[in-house]
Amino acid sequence: MLYNSTQNAAEVVSSAQAIAQGISKDGGLFVPQEFPKYDENTFKALLKTDYKGRAKKVFSDYLTDFTEEEINDCVEKAYTSAKFGGENPAPLTFCNLDGKALNILELWHGPTCAFKDMALQILPHLLTKSLKKTYDGKDAVILVATSGDTGKAALEGFKDVDHTKILVFYPVDGVSPMQKHQMNTQEGANVNVCAIKGNFDDAQTGVKRIFTTPEVSEKLAENNMLFSSANSINWGRLLPQIVYYISAYCDMVNSGKIALGDKINVVVPTGNFGNILASYYASLMGLPINKFICASNSNNVLTDFIRTGVYDKNRNFYTTISPSMDILVSSNLERLLYKLSGNSDETTRDWMNKLKSEGKYEVTDEVKAVIKDKFFGGYCDDVQTKATISKLFEQDNYLCDTHTAVAVNVYEQYVNETGDNTPAVIASTASPYKFSKAVLQAVAPEAELPETEFEMVDKLNEITGTAVPAPLAGLKNKTSRFSDVTEVDKMQDYVLKALGLE
Ligand SMILES: *Cc1c(COP(=O)(O)O)cnc(C)c1O
Repeated sequence: MLYNSTQNAAEVVSSAQAIAQGISKDGGLFVPQEFPKYDENTFKALLKTDYKGRAKKVFSDYLTDFTEEEINDCVEKAYTSAKFGGENPAPLTFCNLDGKALNILELWHGPTCAFKDMALQILPHLLTKSLKKTYDGKDAVILVATSGDTGKAALEGFKDVDHTKILVFYPVDGVSPMQKHQMNTQEGANVNVCAIKGNFDDAQTGVKRIFTTPEVSEKLAENNMLFSSANSINWGRLLPQIVYYISAYCDMVNSGKIALGDKINVVVPTGNFGNILASYYASLMGLPINKFICASNSNNVLTDFIRTGVYDKNRNFYTTISPSMDILVSSNLERLLYKLSGNSDETTRDWMNKLKSEGKYEVTDEVKAVIKDKFFGGYCDDVQTKATISKLFEQDNYLCDTHTAVAVNVYEQYVNETGDNTPAVIASTASPYKFSKAVLQAVAPEAELPETEFEMVDKLNEITGTAVPAPLAGLKNKTSRFSDVTEVDKMQDYVLKALGLE
């Protein structure tokens, strides 16, 4: 299978190349030229195997330049029960809210307690093997812009991985105290963490700019290094996310919630559009998905886009209690647009250029129609998010985090608006203890708020009885290693300095 750039169809690469490089030289994103098709028999075989078996099947169909042995090695190393707290790294939990069944796909049992682990525990293995195939002997420099969760998950995945160095930028006031503490206490000899005086979009734009600045790449090349990306623009991030939708479907069938062939809806709390895009890609492979429900917080640029076909980032930016979704430029939407425009690199490039120059573009009527048919966009604000956390806890004793609550809230809106009762799988993207303050305020609004993050964790645990994940409990006694803060326009200097290339 080959991959090409969304902005230049002539740029054709192998999967190892796509993963090693992260982003295309023209600034476009790598997409598979076709999608493997799974029929009833494929699913019947997948039903009988476990998460790792399902992952191996999906990976082998996309990474055709990897040997079976290589894929097995990556999967076995990534999804261990030691790292994911059990045999199934992405288990379903069944809840009820106002008489509606919620099938909650818990994607946060990995080492950093957010769904990013699902991809970032395997990406370093995929990347080091890809590097060997394509740029043998070179060291990869991983630059990450994070709204909080990717940073820590990438640091944890890449720490002390040979031939890699990792540098993470996060918005100084845009992540939760727990997220900040997780990143600043990161261990490993090849890691670096720096805050920027800007928001996530500034961090992401800054990283993208450094990537595509020829002088910087030349400097790296002279020193036997090359840039790669652990952001969700990297194909090696997206592919592992396809697996858990397929696996969740199999688990729904095996638990008797649906019959093989039945349709499901998926509900995804969305920021950069990576997670929901993975579910769309799964549907192109034959997974029967009826509707993709795209849930946003007050940064509701995607809600408006799905409803009107106009993407307009010229609007207020809100800092919310679901910070991993505080995003106005959803990078992976580009991949959907490429597909919906009939794989037109020209159209995609045109829209992306408009986004750069005017902050705005409008898709064609045909694309609008497909989006309206397959997607539902909705959003809720912080007050509604907290109300949803509180209601779900009161009714079913289930404690969810702020991002998951946005998804649950929008799902309720969807059902109320449409009456569609197709069984829905709701992606739960983080442990509630990553956002203890907001969750505590939601379930115990009268309680006095403790001062420190870890006192809040303890209090939340005391009030709810919900277990604190071991990786978060263990952070309490770790000391901070990183405290740098830089201006957005100094990011490039910071990178060169950190790499010793000034
Ligand atoms: C990253 C993240 C999201 C958004 O996922 P995208 O793939 O960027 O849309 C949602 N929730 C949490 C907790 C996250 O970490």
